[in-house]
Amino acid sequence: MKNFFSRKRLGGAALIAAAAIALTGCGGGAAAPGNTDNPAFEVAKDVALTGSPTFDKIKSADKIRIGVKQDQPGLGFMDAQTGQYSGFDIQIATWMAASLGYPQDKIEFKPIPSANRESAITNGDIDYYVGTYSITDKRKALIDFAGPYFITGQGLLVQKSNDTIKSEKDLTGKDVCSATGSTPIQNIKENFPGVKTTEFDLYSKCVEALKSGSVDAVTTDQAILLGFASQSPDALKVVGEPFTVEKYGIGVPKGDTALRTFFNKTLTDGGATWTKIYDATLGKSGTKVEQPKVDQY
Ligand code: GLU
Repeated sequence: MKNFFSRKRLGGAALIAAAAIALTGCGGGAAAPGNTDNPAFEVAKDVALTGSPTFDKIKSADKIRIGVKQDQPGLGFMDAQTGQYSGFDIQIATWMAASLGYPQDKIEFKPIPSANRESAITNGDIDYYVGTYSITDKRKALIDFAGPYFITGQGLLVQKSNDTIKSEKDLTGKDVCSATGSTPIQNIKENFPGVKTTEFDLYSKCVEALKSGSVDAVTTDQAILLGFASQSPDALKVVGEPFTVEKYGIGVPKGDTALRTFFNKTLTDGGATWTKIYDATLGKSGTKVEQPKVDQY
């Protein structure tokens, strides 16, 4: 079965036709709505994970609720027509569920924007979160992280015709858009005096504002921006070099050390799986990166 990323590279009508083929090509085993049609991971059997309140909850519910992004192409994206999720983060999330013994049809993906991640975890609305979630000390005061499983850095997206913004040094007097509750908006507010900011809950809304000309740039992790740029190569471009370091972690409830250690071990032992996921998603653009070392902070 083709995955979303091979289809994504096609345009317009071809994309829809290919999507139809891919769906019917599943031989009757099409993924349930809301789930990913990405390749299945080997589902672990008889997982014994003692001392994890989150795993106990998963077992009694017989399903996993994973917080994700839904509007970030290549990372965490929901196809509005099929309801299916795809992307690097979605596959990492699915792999972790499989390592706990839960196949795709036991996963419920819950789209949660940047600003609501910590509360979704502390309220128990989700079991864990996988969605461009930078490991920071401030967040670690409320939740725990496994990882990192990916490293990127803050970048800039501008209109293709823009020749005044070439890097973060050109932002003074400009209006820059990012998501509420994110590390990039905080960085701009704290370290870039003279830069005007616009905030939305979702990056896709910033991208719309950029396309319509109501903001001058969108700033967030370069991995996210590259996904948006690849969807609109005639309208948008990524400029400059990454100017922060963002280490992506899997957000888990604070104090659930058993679950955090389990995910860290799955990531550490699963180098081949990580590479398979990368190659099938972000790596499609031709870039090659190594899996970061899990630092067990
Ligand atoms: N990685 C950054 C953060 O966690 C930006 C991306 C996002 O908002 O998800 O805040």
